[in-house]
Amino acid sequence: MIDEKLLNLLCCPKCKTEINEKKMFLLCNDCNKAYPVLGNIPDMLIEDAWSIEKAKKDKYMHSIKI
Ligand SMILES: [Zn+2]
Repeated sequence: MIDEKLLNLLCCPKCKTEINEKKMFLLCNDCNKAYPVLGNIPDMLIEDAWSIEKAKKDKYMHSIKI
């Protein structure tokens, strides 16, 4: 769970639009990207992002370790 203030500051690194938290991911529907949240730190690197379909298939959960 990400701090709400931090979440409000975050945007998609690719298209700069708003992102939505969904369990262990931050989703950008515009780019079809799911950015994993590690602990409470979001990994906003485009190359680390999953597709939303892949994240959805795993019920928006991941087991990525920091
Ligand atoms: Zn985007």
